[in-house]
Amino acid sequence: MNKEQHPGPDARIEALRKGGKLVVLGAGESGAGAALLGRKQGFAVFVSDKGSIAPKYKDVLSQTGIDWEEGGHTEARVLDADLCVKSPGIPDTVPMVQALISKGVPVISEIEFASWYCGATLIAITGSNGKTTTTLLTHHLLVQGGLDAGLAGNIGDSFAAMVARETHEYYVLEVSSFQLDGIMGFRPHIAVITNITPDHLDRYAYRMENYIRSKLRIAENQTPSDHLVYDLDDPVLGEEIQPGRFAPKLWPCSLNQPLEEGAWSTGKDIHIKTHNNDLTMSTDSLALEGQHNIKNTMAAATVARLLGIRNESIRQSVANFQGAPHRLEKVLKIHHVQYINDSKATNVNATFYALDSMTTPTVWIVGGVDKGNDYQPLMPLVREKVKAIICLGVDNSKILDAFGNAVDLVVETYAMSEAVKVAYKIAERGDTVLLSPACASFDLFKNYEDRGNQFKEAVKSL
Ligand code: ADP
Repeated sequence: MNKEQHPGPDARIEALRKGGKLVVLGAGESGAGAALLGRKQGFAVFVSDKGSIAPKYKDVLSQTGIDWEEGGHTEARVLDADLCVKSPGIPDTVPMVQALISKGVPVISEIEFASWYCGATLIAITGSNGKTTTTLLTHHLLVQGGLDAGLAGNIGDSFAAMVARETHEYYVLEVSSFQLDGIMGFRPHIAVITNITPDHLDRYAYRMENYIRSKLRIAENQTPSDHLVYDLDDPVLGEEIQPGRFAPKLWPCSLNQPLEEGAWSTGKDIHIKTHNNDLTMSTDSLALEGQHNIKNTMAAATVARLLGIRNESIRQSVANFQGAPHRLEKVLKIHHVQYINDSKATNVNATFYALDSMTTPTVWIVGGVDKGNDYQPLMPLVREKVKAIICLGVDNSKILDAFGNAVDLVVETYAMSEAVKVAYKIAERGDTVLLSPACASFDLFKNYEDRGNQFKEAVKSL
């Protein structure tokens, strides 16, 4: 561990991290991970979940000798905690959390807890969209460049479970705003914010400024020896991130303007300028398509450069990267019609970039649970590229209202198999069928993965 990059945690953390009674609220991936790490660090751990705990986590907890309960909280036992790790899915407003806070029990997130026991150099990536893609790509660039880097956070294994199990020199973490809400000293050496657009506002009292504040906390413990990489073109980030307001060295990325330092693209090439090094890559060479992925690539490549990965290695790695499923994932070409699964597009901004990257007439499958969407930003793209809309949701009224007059053909469907069959009938040679719902999935599906998998199945059985 580099002392200069990782000064000791402050006195409060120093006292808390030594052990005591740890209560973990919520036993999903991050809660179970925190419990295992707590146990390893000598805490007396109690896990309490208001709902039911998945069998795989029950088994892990029981096998490790960790006490747990489900279907409610035993208040006296929870309130007896010295420290509480709260799962990101639980809002601060629930009575049990409020009771802990009023009793003065520190309530922290699992990434904060894990960082207390991790000497690795941390790279943390947040944003409203693009977190998973940028995290996977950054990890790929680091590993291909020869670094010993773990991958954790919102993606796959929790950070705490990884720290309990294995040691790495670097960690690339996907971090959500909910996890940032519970930090005290969490300090990434390199932080990345891909963008900040409205999402999850129900958890932030419907106030965008609360959500913005939460995301910016990724940089709150950083010092001048740390780095903050961000999208300068994002209106919120462009406004909020100004020299002087943030301690770390700033590395903007832009598709609109050349920069003295940072990353920019003119459309044909990407330029990364860091510490007297110029890296130029052709955008045609990137494995990932779309403007948004040029942004994600610029951010990931900037991180890789800051960590000293060679230009040639970065060039090769961005060309051979395999993207994540459900994100503009090409499924099949049938009768010269390309089918694309972008089920992970659960908000308008993500769908904006999907439509933006379409280069053929598009049959667009859209809909689901509307999170208070404003569809207006999509209107120019829909007029230009979409030949038919297939609504797929229990309530399609907002989509019909927004686009009913913009597109010649709008069809309502209520099951994925039906939506795909209708798309097949409408699409002609050279078209694209795009599932990019701009909505959450839980009206008709378990989650976005289920929705994307059903799409792929339906396409394969055409
Ligand atoms: P997250 O983990 O933040 O949800 P993902 O990488 O899983 O992000 O992508 C989610 C959705 O957002 C996908 O539909 C993807 O095509 C789209 N997307 C990816 N990167 C960006 C970006 N930089 N800006 C806007 N949309 C993006």
